[in-house]
Amino acid sequence: RAKSEGRDTWRFYEEAMGMEARARRLMEHELRHAVARNEFRLVYQPQKKLDTGETIGFEALLRWSNAERGNVSPAVFVPIAEESGIIVPIGEWVLRTACEEAATWQKPVTIAVNVSAIQLHSPSFVHTVHEILLQTGLSPSRLEIEITETALVRDMTRALTTLRQLKALGVHIAMDDFGTGYSSLSNLRAFPFDKIKIDGSFIKQVDTNEQAATIVKAVLGIGRGLGLPVLAEGVETSEELKFLAGEFCQIGQGYLLGRPGPIASLDEGSEAEQARESDAA
Ligand code: C2E
Ligand code: MG
Ligand code: MG
Ligand code: MG
Repeated sequence: RAKSEGRDTWRFYEEAMGMEARARRLMEHELRHAVARNEFRLVYQPQKKLDTGETIGFEALLRWSNAERGNVSPAVFVPIAEESGIIVPIGEWVLRTACEEAATWQKPVTIAVNVSAIQLHSPSFVHTVHEILLQTGLSPSRLEIEITETALVRDMTRALTTLRQLKALGVHIAMDDFGTGYSSLSNLRAFPFDKIKIDGSFIKQVDTNEQAATIVKAVLGIGRGLGLPVLAEGVETSEELKFLAGEFCQIGQGYLLGRPGPIASLDEGSEAEQARESDAA
C-alpha cells in the first residue's frame, strides 16, 4: 500500500512537472514573437533627488501583454526570457526604445535600463549599445545600465571587460537590488559602478525596524566612503522618505515619489497625472 501511494505521488509529481514545463515552453514560444507582434511597451518611473525633489532620471520598466494573457508581470516572464536566451533580442528592443524615447525629452535626465546577465555577456552587447547611442543620438552619459550582482558572478573577468568597455563609451553603470545578491562588498570594489541601488526590501519599514535601518545606514556609509551616490528603491511612505532624507540618501524611487507610467512630457503637471495612473504591471 505504501508502495502504491509512493508511485501515485511520483506520477502526480511527474505530471505536474510536465505541465509546468509545457506552460513554460508555451510562454517561451509567445515571447519569441512578442517583439514583432508589438506586445511590449515601456513604462517609466521617476528617480528623484531627496533634498530638492527634482526628477533626475527615469527607470524604463518592461511591460508585456497580449490578448490571451492580458498583462504578465516581468517577475514572471523575464526569468523565462532569460533562461531561453530570448531576453537578448527583447533587451535590445528595450534599449533602443528607451534611448529613442529619452532622446526626445526636453530635460536631459538619465534613462536607466535593466540588463540581464546573458544580455550583458552576449558577444555583441557593447557594439549594440554603441550603435543604439549613435542611431538615437542620445548622449552616452544619459544612459545608465542597471545590473544585478548575479550578472557579475557568472564570469567576473568577462563582466569586468564589458563594464569597462561600456564606461569607455561614457555610459553609466548602477548596481541594482544591492544587498540581495552575494559578495556585494567585493563586487563594489572590483567593478566600476557609478551608483548603488538599495533593494526595496531594506527600505520597507526602515523607519520602524532597527535591523533594516542599520543595514540602510551602513550602505549609505559605504556609498559615501566610495564616493558613489545611493538610490533607495521602493520608497512607499513619507516616514521612509523622511528617514532616508535624514540619513542623507541622495536619490529615491518608489510609489510615493511616482509610479511607473507612460511619459508624455517631463513637466510636473503630466508627471503628477502619471503618478495617479496605476502601475500597469
Ligand atoms: P527592478 O529593476 O529592481 O525594478 C524595480 C521594481 O520595483 C519594478 O517592478 C517597479 O515597478 C517596482 N517598484 C517601484 N516602486 C515600488 C514601490 O514603491 N513598491 C514596490 N513594492 N515596488 C515598486 P517591475 O516593473 O514589476 O519589474 C520587476 C523586475 O523585472 C525589475 O526589478 C527587473 O529586475 C525586471 N525587469 C523589468 N524590466 C526589465 C527589462 O527591460 N529588462 C530586464 N532584463 N529586466 C527587467
Ligand atoms: Mg532596475
Ligand atoms: Mg531593483
Ligand atoms: Mg529587481
